[in-house]
Amino acid sequence: MNIKNTMALKPVLFFISALFLLIALASFPYLFSRQVSLSNDVNALSDTAVGDPSWGFSQINIEWQRIQLALQDVKITPTDAAFENLSFRMDILFSTVDNMRQVIKRIENDQESNRKPYTVPDPLKSEFKKTLDIYDQLDRELAGLIETRDLGKIDGIIDTFKTQSAAISSHASRSNQWVHSLENRLRSLIREHLENYKFTLFLLIGSLLVFVSMISYLFYQNYRTNLVLVTEKGRAEAANRAKSEFLASMNHELRTPLTSSHASLRLLKYTMADDLPAQGQELIDIALRNSEVLLTLINELLDYERIESGTLVIETGAHDIYPLVLETVDDMKGYGDTRSVRFVITKNQPSLVANVHQQRFQQVLRNLLSNAAKFSAPDSDVEVALIQDETGTRVSIKDHGLGIPDEFRPIIFNRFTQVDATSTRKHSGTGLGLAISKALTEGMGGTLSFETEIGVGSTFTIFLPASEPAADET
Ligand code: ADP
Repeated sequence: MNIKNTMALKPVLFFISALFLLIALASFPYLFSRQVSLSNDVNALSDTAVGDPSWGFSQINIEWQRIQLALQDVKITPTDAAFENLSFRMDILFSTVDNMRQVIKRIENDQESNRKPYTVPDPLKSEFKKTLDIYDQLDRELAGLIETRDLGKIDGIIDTFKTQSAAISSHASRSNQWVHSLENRLRSLIREHLENYKFTLFLLIGSLLVFVSMISYLFYQNYRTNLVLVTEKGRAEAANRAKSEFLASMNHELRTPLTSSHASLRLLKYTMADDLPAQGQELIDIALRNSEVLLTLINELLDYERIESGTLVIETGAHDIYPLVLETVDDMKGYGDTRSVRFVITKNQPSLVANVHQQRFQQVLRNLLSNAAKFSAPDSDVEVALIQDETGTRVSIKDHGLGIPDEFRPIIFNRFTQVDATSTRKHSGTGLGLAISKALTEGMGGTLSFETEIGVGSTFTIFLPASEPAADET
């Protein structure tokens, strides 16, 4: 998969991994709640087994049988020992019944606190109570018999025992059925919980696995992308270096012969041109103008290359800048004349000292003055003002020209930016002048800014901050 595809897939993969992380996180509380219900039901199952009322009823029934036997004994041989045995049996029955009362009480409490599904169904509960009431009645009769030893009543009591014995057996078996059905229900609930628990656990582990693999994949792809980018960057840098070296050597190769032919042409013009016919003089002028344009172009390209490659080092020194401005303005006068533009120094202060590199400062000035002349209305003034305060020195060049359109203002210092970039444009230029001027001004510790208004003109300002004079200019 190439980098582009991976980049496009990144948000999708992020989304999927986030989704699985969310599922994993959400399944935690779910898993916990499953665990709680599971342990609740297991507890309920053991509670049911412990508090099984059917067991209590069968115990009562056994004791019931024993009391009947003890009654038979008393009837046949009403000795002290037989009565003692009867009273002993009664004690045992009493404690068993007491236990049952506790069970019933707990069942009632459970019902009150709504601990379903262990609540005893109402009919069953009323049967429990009925059984205990019967016991109470028989208990009183037996107690009377033991106290009075009136054997005349004994048959009646034995009959009542027989009848109630059958009723208690049926209560016991109904209670037993209920307990079993309850146990079955709880078992199936536990099975269900276990299934859900397993599923949630599987979901949690699965989601975590998917999440971890997605994230690892994304990291791996990121690592690969970075690797490719680093390689590509290395290649691009090497290509850029090769291009710079090529441009530098081409510029050098071009500049040397061009400078020499330019110098020869100048010599020709100023020493021997008078001997030439008028047409020859005109041809020399054309050749001189064009070689100048070419030299400027090559110098700008060379400067730009050095700025781009970071090899341009500007060392500044304290200079009185008024003479530098004056000299440049004088140099540019001829250029201004060709455009019918006058350079006027409108403001000045004595001894304006600033930290600059003499040639580079004048190069920036030349570029700003030539732009001002180029884009001024014919027959107008370009005003140069020098102002100094405690913050630093400002040199501003104000023209009365076209102004710079809104959309070009943010990019005007970018290389090769020209408002009119058509091949039929009126003004010559490379679109490098402002980019170089800005870099040079900043290289001297200053800033280059501008204000402009369409149809009114532009003012470019070089600001050189006040500072301790630096080492001598080189
Ligand atoms: P060049 O002058 O060689 O084209 P510059 O970098 O010096 O390159 O200027 C870039 C562009 O900025 C110019 O082409 C022009 O469109 C615009 N520009 C610069 N100075 C002025 C100015 N004083 N008035 C109007 N436009 C200007």
